Amino acid sequence: MALNADVIALLDEFKDIRHKIHQHPEVGLETAQTVVLIKSKLDEYGISYENIGVNSLVAEIKGKAGDTTVAFRVDMDGLEMSEENDFSYKSQVEGRMHACGHDGHCTSLIALAAYLSKHRDFNGTVLLLFQSGEEGYEGALRVIEDSFFDKYKVDYMFGFHAWPGLASGKIAVHNGACMASEDRFEIMVTGKSGHASMPHVCNEPFAAVADIIKGLQTIVGRKVPSHERGVVSITQVHGGSLRNGIPDNVMVQGNVRTCNEDVQDLIEESIAQTVAGACAIYGVKGVLDYVRKHPVLINSTPDVARKAAEKVVGPENVVTDLESSMAAEDFAFFMKHTKGCYVWIGNGVDSPPLHNSKFDFNDEILPVAASFFIAVIDELL
Ligand SMILES: [Zn+2]
Ligand SMILES: [Zn+2]
Repeated sequence: MALNADVIALLDEFKDIRHKIHQHPEVGLETAQTVVLIKSKLDEYGISYENIGVNSLVAEIKGKAGDTTVAFRVDMDGLEMSEENDFSYKSQVEGRMHACGHDGHCTSLIALAAYLSKHRDFNGTVLLLFQSGEEGYEGALRVIEDSFFDKYKVDYMFGFHAWPGLASGKIAVHNGACMASEDRFEIMVTGKSGHASMPHVCNEPFAAVADIIKGLQTIVGRKVPSHERGVVSITQVHGGSLRNGIPDNVMVQGNVRTCNEDVQDLIEESIAQTVAGACAIYGVKGVLDYVRKHPVLINSTPDVARKAAEKVVGPENVVTDLESSMAAEDFAFFMKHTKGCYVWIGNGVDSPPLHNSKFDFNDEILPVAASFFIAVIDELL
């Protein structure tokens, strides 16, 4: 493995920073204290920065003359869950922990900042974007709405996630889709309430709801082409409050994942058809509210990432045949505005899964991630 020697030389310092962030997890868009820590390191390295979005931060490092700008984006937020690890640097905030490795993601970018403060011999500009609110809080959208792509001419953008189940010396690069889209829907079925003993004077909504649920569960198997992937999950059903009464309304909620925008369109259309059809049969009203939360994350420059990864971990450790994940990632929003690639860096085969109360970012991959970023700069600038 060709890890960057300058990064390795400072590894203990970076581990300390990571542990400090791990001890003080912040959630959602409220990452102010993490930003204070990152700013103190950037000040130390003599790198200028500005606030962007909500508690996100962008640092700009100019090299030699050159028009190309490469941005690296990491996330910083933790999760509202209690940590079950008992090592010295476990979370000091009850009910919050870094269970998705974002503490390690942002530390890897701090390591890149330290390196670039001493090595500005590249042609062009590097941006370091520390983003809040990745875990469903629209942190990326807040950055984009704050004119990120107007203020900076971003030619390429790269990001990564620590990946449990993948060995720590390996990097996975997907051609095309890497992370799934996430959509959420709510269906309100409305009939007419009344006494349970007299359904003939009511218009009961449950039969339509039962058909809707059965119908939605056939969409992936019957309508989505067998070579494509998709998930339609029902996550909530609520209706009624009496043992002897028929309610007016029943609400059904659910979640949809796909790895292809055409499949996403097909599923949305099929849900609408199923709701309309079932409601027409029983003469009840059905209203579908379908919200697209995250787009599919599509890598447009996997070749650049693959070459950079090969330089760091060797071609034998670059994995290119993994299925995309059905989890969503808001880096996908940036890929709607520029070219780039999102990679997975192995967190270890025995690593607990993401969002598990025993998950911990593997410090061994701090230099892998930072060296990967440096290799991307070597490729493009
Ligand atoms: Zn997560
Ligand atoms: Zn994550």
